[in-house]
Amino acid sequence: MPPLKEDILQNIYEIFAEWSAGFSFACTKNCAACCTQNVTMTAVEGELIHRLIRENGREEWFAGKLQAKGESERPRMTTNDFAGACLGKGEDVESEQYGNMSPCPFLETGCCQIYEVRPFSCRCFASEQRCFSGTSALLPEYYLSASTAVMQIIEHLGQGEYWGNMLDVLSALCDLPENRSYATLLPASFVEQSRIQVIKAKPLPGFLLLDEEMEKIAPLLDAIFTRKVGEKTVESILNGR
Ligand code: SF4
Ligand code: SF4
Repeated sequence: MPPLKEDILQNIYEIFAEWSAGFSFACTKNCAACCTQNVTMTAVEGELIHRLIRENGREEWFAGKLQAKGESERPRMTTNDFAGACLGKGEDVESEQYGNMSPCPFLETGCCQIYEVRPFSCRCFASEQRCFSGTSALLPEYYLSASTAVMQIIEHLGQGEYWGNMLDVLSALCDLPENRSYATLLPASFVEQSRIQVIKAKPLPGFLLLDEEMEKIAPLLDAIFTRKVGEKTVESILNGR
């Protein structure tokens, strides 16, 4: 049975998929210009990916993919750091410009090889108009706000654990006891280096939602917070009750 955090994460993924099914996106299988190395995530999302890799005995393949990560600048603020800074200042804080637009190594012949466990950043990336390399996705503002709010909840779920670029977090997680097989598959210091490149997930400081968006986003947040996982609601678990 997956641990509680992974269980909650799967529920959040499912609820977001149901909510976003109401949009008309141009996204199709094999359309993957958005699949770059500019993806961030939490450790709990990474543990779900590692679990699938172990279950399928694909550690050697995976170790090769991790080593494809680039050397671009890393984020210095998490989504909740950014939200906290905006809420503290009462105004927008300039967002960080970082990222690596090289293709994601998990993309093979136009398909994601870890699709069923892809992180939330990949799940919420979509466009109402087909986009190509270098062009922006077209999305309603409230969809972006809702995606950011869900990202914040997932970060809260993983607070105190690794947060950062997907490939860095996955690499840093190779030092978990259950991932010891990577010790012989990755160069010495690779995991240690990756641990330096990630930062820690923070608790939710509040959402950055506009009043006029709330009517459309509240059903999504309510569905997440009231979802029962075991005996408790997600809200009570996230509040430590
Ligand atoms: S976000 Fe853009 S590139 Fe990605 S699948 Fe959708 S249409 Fe294709
Ligand atoms: S993990 Fe999968 S969905 Fe996400 S960027 Fe990589 S190939 Fe695309």
